[in-house]
Amino acid sequence: MCAAPASDRLAQTLSRHGLRQTPVRRAVLQVLSDSAYALSGSEMEQQLPADTDRITLYRTLKSFEEKGLIHRVIDSTDIIRYASCSVECSVEAHFDNHVHFKCTACEHIYCLNQVAIPAVTLPARFEAVSRDYLLAGVCRECQPAS
Ligand SMILES: [Zn+2]
Ligand SMILES: [Zn+2]
Repeated sequence: MCAAPASDRLAQTLSRHGLRQTPVRRAVLQVLSDSAYALSGSEMEQQLPADTDRITLYRTLKSFEEKGLIHRVIDSTDIIRYASCSVECSVEAHFDNHVHFKCTACEHIYCLNQVAIPAVTLPARFEAVSRDYLLAGVCRECQPAS
């Protein structure tokens, strides 16, 4: 069992990705790793200390994304949400090859880390550089009690 306190895990994650510890970085990482679903910047702001500077927050998200700590979760709206990456992600490569699921009841988007995106065969001379696989439906929390 991993017995390291949460504060140490945050420090380890930051240093593994070559980032110095700052209060905002720690707080953002904590909020994202505590969330069961992807969060937009404004949703994060509501959970961060009130004195968190918005510019600093967005700079933090940008560097986290570049360093492979978090990934974007895209849906049909303009809202960009973020979720924490699996531990294997790094600045060199993201391993975000999992399916996302948007609940039409609570509107949360979940990372289904255990569900891999199915392989697709592309026509000749098509070369994919990114992939987003989004399913919509009703999540576990919103299913009527049986
Ligand atoms: Zn739901
Ligand atoms: Zn994801």
